[in-house]
Amino acid sequence: MESPVGALLSSTRPRDSKKARFRREMDKGLCRDTNPTAAVKMLPTFVRSTPDGTEQGEFLALDLGGTNFRVLLVKVKASGKQEVEMEDQIYAIPEHLMKGSGSELFDHIADCLANFMEKLGIKDKKLPLGFTFSFPCQQTKLDESVLLSWTKGFKSSGVEGKDVVSLLKKAIKKRGDLDIDILAVINDTVGTMMTCGYDDHLCEIGLIVGTGTNACYMEQMRNLEVLDGDEGRMCVNTEWGAFGDDGALEDLRTEIDREIDAGSLNPGKQLFEKMISGMYMGELVRLILVRMTKEKLLFNGKTTAELLTTGSFNTSYIYAIENDKLVCVYSYTEGTFERITSFLKASEVSQCMKDEESLASTEKVLRGLGLDPSADDCIATQRVCQIVSTRAAHLCAATLVAVLRQIRDNKAAEKLRTTIGVDGSVYKNHPQFSRRLHKMVRRLVPDCDVRFLQSQCGSGKGAAMVTAVAYRVAAQHAE
Ligand code: BGC
Ligand code: MG
Repeated sequence: MESPVGALLSSTRPRDSKKARFRREMDKGLCRDTNPTAAVKMLPTFVRSTPDGTEQGEFLALDLGGTNFRVLLVKVKASGKQEVEMEDQIYAIPEHLMKGSGSELFDHIADCLANFMEKLGIKDKKLPLGFTFSFPCQQTKLDESVLLSWTKGFKSSGVEGKDVVSLLKKAIKKRGDLDIDILAVINDTVGTMMTCGYDDHLCEIGLIVGTGTNACYMEQMRNLEVLDGDEGRMCVNTEWGAFGDDGALEDLRTEIDREIDAGSLNPGKQLFEKMISGMYMGELVRLILVRMTKEKLLFNGKTTAELLTTGSFNTSYIYAIENDKLVCVYSYTEGTFERITSFLKASEVSQCMKDEESLASTEKVLRGLGLDPSADDCIATQRVCQIVSTRAAHLCAATLVAVLRQIRDNKAAEKLRTTIGVDGSVYKNHPQFSRRLHKMVRRLVPDCDVRFLQSQCGSGKGAAMVTAVAYRVAAQHAE
């Protein structure tokens, strides 16, 4: 049997055909005839333009679907020089609400909103609100958004197939003490693009690599066949996490990928996301370590209860492990070099080799799982982490490049100059992910001049930006 690491390694390098493959998937989603059966949905967002700087006012925003649930108050000042002030608060969403009844989930969201407004002393104000809801939704307008299916860790009953604005309105009304005007629902990718677009007008792509993964970009209306009208552009939420749900990635998926999927909340769905994002990356590593141990390649063949527990290998361990610098120390006796140890305590290292670190974090993580790792076990574990996270970065690069080529072809530009707004825990916290992603993108499209711009709190702030634009447009119409 091919080793699990070998199998993963064999699919870390995107080849040209893989990029073309995602481009075809995008086409399928955009075309009227093929859209109903397309895995990659290419959803219209009804966001047609980025802020022009004349927006102003106070806006509330909710941000649900990433690592944290957040409530925000965003003040936008029309000072010519774009200025945004922000207050925010993170609230926990208890596990039982993520998988319980939908009405309880929305009641909880309304409670958090009320608590936040009370704290800031703005409960009596009627404020416009933007809702970042980071799941695949079919929109018919900016403030109507029907959840197609839950992803990541959510599985509340009675929400799929419903308009989340109505559900939120109902929960707010039930409380009876708030008067809120919900103006927009957006995806986190859109929020990220909008926030970055505020600082860099060339920003026309939003990318998230966090708990889940996805991207949006500005598409020509004429290519967006599912909507009437050929003029101008609209932001399209690709929902690329579902790439492969129709079998398009079977040659790339490994046994480990199938195992992750089988044990997930949504088997058969979000197959591309499960190869990449933070919700699954640690678990991919854990499953490989278990396999290798059972094959007696690690830890003297001895597993532990912790190692065998689903979810015990947190994705943040990968960040720590890949931060470790490998040190090999050799002893020289009678004309031969012998490797005596490959990981040392920081204190030992400083004695023999300056400026180097050790595999101390790797060892600590493995000991935390009840294991008694040798130096080679630590090295192998670090290698497994590198393979899994590098594959993720390269897969992301492949799909991102398809989006870049689409934009370049739309503009019939020889050389595209564009900006990608990025957010997400993996992108921000993994020590190597962003570098590997950038490097592969530049290698695959040397003819594009791409800037990656990291957004601060982009998904939530972006909802306020979209709401501010909607508010400005509505005010103009009312005049
Ligand atoms: C969701 C997307 C979201 C992404 C990143 C995916 O699971 O389907 O809507 O943008 O996660 O949060
Ligand atoms: Mg987010």
